[in-house]
Amino acid sequence: MAKPITQILWTELEPGCVIVEPGNAREYRTGDWRTMGHPKVDTERCVKCAQCYIFCPDAAIERTQEGYFLPNLYYCKGCGICAHECPVKCIEMVPEGE
Ligand code: SF4
Ligand code: SF4
Repeated sequence: MAKPITQILWTELEPGCVIVEPGNAREYRTGDWRTMGHPKVDTERCVKCAQCYIFCPDAAIERTQEGYFLPNLYYCKGCGICAHECPVKCIEMVPEGE
Protein backbone atom coordinates (compact mmCIF):
# COMPACT_ATOMS: atom_id res chain seq x y z
CA MET A 1 0.00 0.00 0.00
CA ALA A 2 1.32 3.46 -0.92
CA LYS A 3 2.33 5.75 1.94
CA PRO A 4 0.38 8.99 2.43
CA ILE A 5 2.35 11.85 0.87
CA THR A 6 3.10 13.40 4.29
CA GLN A 7 5.03 10.28 5.32
CA ILE A 8 7.40 10.17 2.33
CA LEU A 9 10.96 11.31 3.05
CA TRP A 10 12.91 13.28 0.46
CA THR A 11 15.40 10.42 0.32
CA GLU A 12 12.60 8.14 -0.90
CA LEU A 13 11.58 10.33 -3.83
CA GLU A 14 12.22 9.10 -7.37
CA PRO A 15 14.78 11.31 -9.16
CA GLY A 16 13.16 13.47 -11.82
CA CYS A 17 14.21 15.90 -14.56
CA VAL A 18 17.50 14.09 -15.04
CA ILE A 19 19.77 15.84 -17.53
CA VAL A 20 21.83 13.09 -19.08
CA GLU A 21 23.69 15.18 -21.65
CA PRO A 22 25.07 18.72 -21.40
CA GLY A 23 23.16 21.37 -23.29
CA ASN A 24 20.04 19.26 -23.86
CA ALA A 25 17.73 21.86 -22.26
CA ARG A 26 17.81 23.62 -25.64
CA GLU A 27 15.73 20.78 -27.06
CA TYR A 28 12.86 21.24 -24.60
CA ARG A 29 9.97 23.50 -25.58
CA THR A 30 9.60 25.17 -22.17
CA GLY A 31 7.29 27.73 -23.80
CA ASP A 32 4.60 25.05 -23.67
CA TRP A 33 4.43 25.67 -19.91
CA ARG A 34 2.90 29.14 -20.38
CA THR A 35 -0.57 29.59 -18.96
CA MET A 36 -0.97 33.34 -18.46
CA GLY A 37 -0.01 34.80 -21.85
CA HIS A 38 3.25 36.02 -23.30
CA PRO A 39 5.24 39.26 -23.59
CA LYS A 40 4.81 41.51 -26.62
CA VAL A 41 7.41 44.22 -27.23
CA ASP A 42 6.57 47.61 -28.73
CA THR A 43 9.82 48.18 -30.61
CA GLU A 44 8.82 51.79 -31.36
CA ARG A 45 9.31 52.57 -27.67
CA CYS A 46 12.15 50.13 -26.87
CA VAL A 47 15.39 51.92 -25.91
CA LYS A 48 17.50 48.75 -26.36
CA CYS A 49 18.69 48.79 -22.74
CA ALA A 50 18.75 44.96 -22.41
CA GLN A 51 17.17 44.91 -18.95
CA CYS A 52 14.64 42.32 -20.16
CA TYR A 53 17.51 40.19 -21.46
CA ILE A 54 19.36 40.40 -18.14
CA PHE A 55 16.36 39.68 -15.91
CA CYS A 56 14.68 36.87 -17.89
CA PRO A 57 15.15 33.77 -15.72
CA ASP A 58 14.92 31.46 -18.71
CA ALA A 59 17.31 33.23 -21.08
CA ALA A 60 14.38 33.43 -23.47
CA ILE A 61 15.10 36.95 -24.73
CA GLU A 62 17.16 37.21 -27.90
CA ARG A 63 18.84 40.21 -29.51
CA THR A 64 17.85 40.89 -33.09
CA GLN A 65 20.20 42.14 -35.81
CA GLU A 66 18.66 45.60 -35.34
CA GLY A 67 19.56 45.57 -31.62
CA TYR A 68 16.07 44.99 -30.24
CA PHE A 69 15.44 42.38 -27.56
CA LEU A 70 12.53 40.03 -28.27
CA PRO A 71 11.22 36.97 -26.44
CA ASN A 72 11.65 33.58 -28.06
CA LEU A 73 8.24 32.05 -27.38
CA TYR A 74 9.69 28.59 -27.87
CA TYR A 75 11.35 29.02 -24.44
CA CYS A 76 9.43 31.87 -22.71
CA LYS A 77 7.41 30.60 -19.76
CA GLY A 78 5.32 33.78 -19.47
CA CYS A 79 6.45 34.85 -16.00
CA GLY A 80 6.18 38.56 -16.84
CA ILE A 81 9.46 39.58 -15.20
CA CYS A 82 10.67 41.23 -18.41
CA ALA A 83 7.52 43.39 -18.55
CA HIS A 84 7.95 44.31 -14.89
CA GLU A 85 11.61 45.30 -15.30
CA CYS A 86 11.40 47.19 -18.60
CA PRO A 87 12.18 50.83 -17.65
CA VAL A 88 10.01 52.33 -20.40
CA LYS A 89 7.18 49.78 -20.01
CA CYS A 90 7.19 48.83 -23.67
CA ILE A 91 6.58 45.13 -22.90
CA GLU A 92 2.97 44.10 -22.44
CA MET A 93 1.80 40.67 -21.36
CA VAL A 94 -0.90 39.59 -23.81
CA PRO A 95 -3.07 36.46 -24.08
CA GLU A 96 -1.82 33.57 -26.18
CA GLY A 97 -2.57 34.02 -29.86
CA GLU A 98 -2.08 37.79 -29.88
S1 SF4 B 1 7.85 36.44 -19.64
FE1 SF4 B 1 9.47 35.61 -18.27
S2 SF4 B 1 10.30 33.85 -19.39
FE2 SF4 B 1 9.15 35.08 -20.89
S3 SF4 B 1 10.67 36.43 -21.81
FE3 SF4 B 1 9.73 37.56 -20.10
S4 SF4 B 1 11.08 37.18 -18.35
FE4 SF4 B 1 11.56 35.63 -19.91
S1 SF4 C 1 13.80 46.25 -21.17
FE1 SF4 C 1 12.31 47.26 -22.50
S2 SF4 C 1 13.42 49.01 -23.35
FE2 SF4 C 1 14.95 47.61 -22.50
S3 SF4 C 1 15.57 46.32 -24.25
FE3 SF4 C 1 13.93 45.24 -23.16
S4 SF4 C 1 12.07 45.85 -24.26
FE4 SF4 C 1 13.65 47.33 -24.82
